Amino acid sequence: MDFTLTPDQQAFRERVRSWLKTNIPRDWKALGSSEVPRPEAYEFLRKWQRTLYDNGFIGLTWPKEYGGGGLTFLEEMILHEEMALAKAPPVLNVLGVGMAGPTIIAYGTEEQKQRFPAKILSCEEIWCQGYSEPNSGSDLASLQTRAVKDGEHWVINGQKVWTSLAHVADWMMLLARTDPTVPRHKGITYFLLDMKLPGVTVKPLKQITGDAEFNEVFFDNVRVHESHVLGGVNNGWGVGLTTLMYERLALGFGLQARLRISLDQLIGLAQRMEKNGRVITQDPVMRQKLAQVWIDTECLKYTGARAITKLLKGEIPGPEASTGKMGWVETHQKLQELAMEIEGPYSQLARGSDRAVDGGVWQYSFLRSRANSIEGGTTEVQKNIIGERVLGLPKG
Ligand SMILES: Cc1cc2nc3c(=O)[nH]c(=O)nc-3n(C[C@H](O)[C@H](O)[C@H](O)COP(=O)(O)OP(=O)(O)OC[C@H]3O[C@@H](n4cnc5c(N)ncnc54)[C@H](O)[C@@H]3O)c2cc1C
Repeated sequence: MDFTLTPDQQAFRERVRSWLKTNIPRDWKALGSSEVPRPEAYEFLRKWQRTLYDNGFIGLTWPKEYGGGGLTFLEEMILHEEMALAKAPPVLNVLGVGMAGPTIIAYGTEEQKQRFPAKILSCEEIWCQGYSEPNSGSDLASLQTRAVKDGEHWVINGQKVWTSLAHVADWMMLLARTDPTVPRHKGITYFLLDMKLPGVTVKPLKQITGDAEFNEVFFDNVRVHESHVLGGVNNGWGVGLTTLMYERLALGFGLQARLRISLDQLIGLAQRMEKNGRVITQDPVMRQKLAQVWIDTECLKYTGARAITKLLKGEIPGPEASTGKMGWVETHQKLQELAMEIEGPYSQLARGSDRAVDGGVWQYSFLRSRANSIEGGTTEVQKNIIGERVLGLPKG
């Protein structure tokens, strides 16, 4: 990949940089600057995403006619880098922007493409992803939520679980079984489900962090109009996998840029904390560990750049996206563990304690990071995908 920027791309970088300098609201710091959208920051982040949209700094690669910027993934990479350098707040409608929007643009009817993408970018409509069920996680094709045709509607019954943001979501990417008589991958349909329809019940689940970021969602005779099928009846497996590829790409590529923010904050922490009477940054072992996280972060940057090269050639993300996701998970978890090591005994003081370092933000992000190797497909499953589809190994 050629990293030399054209004059236009260089000008774009400068425009983003100077805009960010004056437009990140001051109260972001007071809200804790968490890399994971926290409930108390939802309203702030909703407005922030709207500001990004109004200024054309979100959905850069989406076609202009659907609310995007009509630019390339190179501008998208520049934007992510500049956001990381400026420590900008994250995007709230992350599942909509990272998954629902690109999938609707790839498979939607013209009516769906006119209706949904722009509202995703502006954060007017938040999206969640209804894939996992109590007995279907890694083995997603075994999902049991049923959809039965009744006139112009599909009637949905069943349950989803671990549905992030369902408690604030307006729409869901829903996978449901529409034909139980055919091989299981072939009888699934992808629906765009309005979360306000009668019969949808959302029950929050509390996580180890104390936040209820994800939910159980129950469907009791929910009637979805047939115009909200995406990509054709019984074609949901292919459509759903596209969403997952975008998810892994977003997790691997988008989040690797944000790793830089956490790494800079970690170095700041190491410069303030002491161990055995000297600051941590003078401790030779800790210096080695910090340097290793920087090296891993740089490697991820270039893995992301390889994925971008593929996208620039007009190809959609393939199984290689799994590499980026896995690499990000390992580096991020290592970074969070290192933060606990740097804090030493202070790591025992959770959020809410007067003496917790940085208000306990590191304890929160350490606990949250345990989920990284599960969400978006477990690390074991990513390794299976790489083994089978990249290396050509036989199925396990
Ligand atoms: C924070 C968080 C947010 C989430 N958000 C969402 C969301 O918004 N929407 C959604 O639909 N889902 C969501 N999930 C669910 C997530 O996608 C599933 O948890 C994940 O796919 C694993 O499924 P499972 O929990 O049923 O575990 P299982 O599939 O039961 O796996 C249990 C263990 O067995 C291992 N395993 C399973 N199969 C294999 C295999 N073939 N080879 C080797 N090892 C295997 C797994 O790696 C794991 O360690 C979220 C999960 C978390 C933690």
